[in-house]
Amino acid sequence: MSLKPLLPGALSDRGQQMTLGVMGGGQLGRMFVQAAQAMGYFTAVLDPDPASPAGLVAHFHIETPYDDEQGLAQLMQRCDAITTEFENVPAPALITLGAHRPVAPSANCVAVAQDRIQEKAHFVQCGPVSGVYPAPYAAIETPELLAAVPADLLPGIIKTARLGYDGKGQIRVKNREELAAAWEQLGRVPCVLEKLMPLQSECSVIVARGADGQVVAFPVQKNTHRDGILALTEVYEGAVPAELAARAQASTVAIANHLNYVGVLCVEYFVVDNGQGGSDLIVNEMAPRPHNSGHYTQNACDMSQFEAQVRTLAGLPLPVPRQHSPAIMVNLLGDLWFNPNGVRSAASEQPVAPPWAQVLALPGTHLHLYGKLSARPGRKMGHLNITGDSVVQVRETASKVLALLGLPALD
Ligand code: ADP
Ligand code: MG
Repeated sequence: MSLKPLLPGALSDRGQQMTLGVMGGGQLGRMFVQAAQAMGYFTAVLDPDPASPAGLVAHFHIETPYDDEQGLAQLMQRCDAITTEFENVPAPALITLGAHRPVAPSANCVAVAQDRIQEKAHFVQCGPVSGVYPAPYAAIETPELLAAVPADLLPGIIKTARLGYDGKGQIRVKNREELAAAWEQLGRVPCVLEKLMPLQSECSVIVARGADGQVVAFPVQKNTHRDGILALTEVYEGAVPAELAARAQASTVAIANHLNYVGVLCVEYFVVDNGQGGSDLIVNEMAPRPHNSGHYTQNACDMSQFEAQVRTLAGLPLPVPRQHSPAIMVNLLGDLWFNPNGVRSAASEQPVAPPWAQVLALPGTHLHLYGKLSARPGRKMGHLNITGDSVVQVRETASKVLALLGLPALD
């Protein structure tokens, strides 16, 4: 990547408005586009869906498949630098783009994050520096490897090496028979079997790293998942024990440095019982992009994860982000549109917008909806960031919001 910054509002070497592009048109792409536009950049999105959340708000929307040569050529012609918003962008497309334009993160980094086998091998390599290791695991790619799985990985979770997300593509297994049946059910594709860990809690860390190697970490997020999907993120003093939080941040920085990563990276961790009455940290997986658990940065920090993505892509300075308010993020799934007043209606009924006016009457509530045209159960429709001037206050407001939306209360 070139170290010369791509200044917003300037004319680029192409003689056109400085333009940042993104592969993928989902909500993460939309919020990247909005952050880039706020700073004065033109924006372009490549996504085949004409109604994609990011395509709807970008200056240019190229509606082709991700590996379409003409689409990629158009994107390069429009853009001065290109990023990605989901990890399953075909690596060859990023290689093509990277030959002509700055691309961050690189095809190589995205390829590692796309494949749980490579990803875990990377974590193991980083272990001596990061001090944090993945859960015990084995790669399963052949019947021989399946048969050779060590018994102490059971009970465990078998996960497809590629394309899993939000708990999809994974099955919990208690013994060898269940393991064999699960691998069959997953289509005998390459998988990893991970030992089932005694989770106390889950957390994640966002870092941003520039092409010059400067890296900054955001505060550590405590995450609560429901049905395999992130439900809540809490970020305030004490949400994650300070010693573990410091280790998680240092580990994430080491992982980014080891990959020579450029861009925004999120690494997820498990806090586990160490068997001696204390806690230990396990590294789970990484996302080569902003992450759902980092959305609180939009309203609780002086730089959002999306602005950090813009800055790393454009080669702008990267000051250490500061959290100015305790924060709780509530994910807004499509289920809420079928849950008026907390009473569940049939999914076949007409969706009803949740009571936003009542929610927004509470101070410190910030609604982010992604412009998706139809609500479906399980679909990420938006999120609500809640900020306050104290932990007590932000938790109080969150409790009221959760009650209004008919969602389970805070722990
Ligand atoms: P995804 O790509 O779907 O997010 P993850 O590997 O993060 O896949 O797994 C989803 C969730 O399943 C985790 O957030 C955690 O709650 C649970 N989980 C995953 N692996 C383990 C494990 N080895 N032990 C215990 N729980 C796990
Ligand atoms: Mg995960």
